[in-house]
Amino acid sequence: MRLLLPILLLAAGLPAAAQQPGAGQRLAITIDDLPVNGPDTGLAGLRRINDGILSALRDAKVPAVGFVNEEKLYHEGEVDGRIALLEAWLAAGLELGNHTWSHPDFNRVGLAAYEEEIVRGESVTRLLLAKRQKPLRLFRHTFLRTGKTLEDKAGLEAYLTGRGYLAVPVTIENDDWWLNSKYLKAREAGDTALMTRIADEYIVHWSRMFDWYEALAARVFGRNIDHVILMHQNVLNAERLPEVLALMAKRGYAFATVDAVLKDPAYGHEDRYAGPWGKSWLQRWALARGIDTLGKEPDPPDWFVKLYPAN
Ligand SMILES: [Zn+2]
Repeated sequence: MRLLLPILLLAAGLPAAAQQPGAGQRLAITIDDLPVNGPDTGLAGLRRINDGILSALRDAKVPAVGFVNEEKLYHEGEVDGRIALLEAWLAAGLELGNHTWSHPDFNRVGLAAYEEEIVRGESVTRLLLAKRQKPLRLFRHTFLRTGKTLEDKAGLEAYLTGRGYLAVPVTIENDDWWLNSKYLKAREAGDTALMTRIADEYIVHWSRMFDWYEALAARVFGRNIDHVILMHQNVLNAERLPEVLALMAKRGYAFATVDAVLKDPAYGHEDRYAGPWGKSWLQRWALARGIDTLGKEPDPPDWFVKLYPAN
């Protein structure tokens, strides 16, 4: 009986675990637009966002990467304070990467200007990493746009490789910048009921997006994969990230570094997409293999889309 009981408990636990779509899979969390995504309301606000996100990552033991737009560091009287926000990421054992100087659209500015943006966007981050004997090695495309032609795309790839960068792909994102922008509108209007409704919808939208991207992974690879998640450094995540991370854990996923996740053989597949959109790499692999991409990823519900139409 002593032996039997644990075995029975284990067996009872198995079917539930098998139903979790993320069981046995890992997630790398990447957070873009440091020090802030959305309106810049000054250092005090930026510090609240940074603290909220870092404490959520620490509590859930998530090894995240933050991608920086260094232009946003240069604010009169606040430069040291803003650099300290980045320093706090490294002190927490997290990594920083380059997300260009001012977040231009590669498809609009072209290769030469985009290369300048990459160089200009790396000086402070490189210095902070060097103080800890670490290289600046990770890059994230702005708007996930990798080139509107195959020629642009190959040119940028060669440039990034030559400069020692690994461009980090994204498989799952969640329109969090969009939900954040309407959330801040509701906050401006002092509508706390609407703020709660939007923030709750944000959590629901994660489940919706996971369902959709997991279905796409199954279609492309016949299985779920280890994912790279894109989020942004904004108010909504500063307030709700603990719930988002709990939702991911509840789906069965474990958190891991970008390097660990990129070892999934899925990431060895070719991305031949060139065009206007910043697509998920799952959609790119589907296109390259002639597999239907299941259309566009789902939007939040209509009531949300129609809210504050300009945002
Ligand atoms: Zn961005």
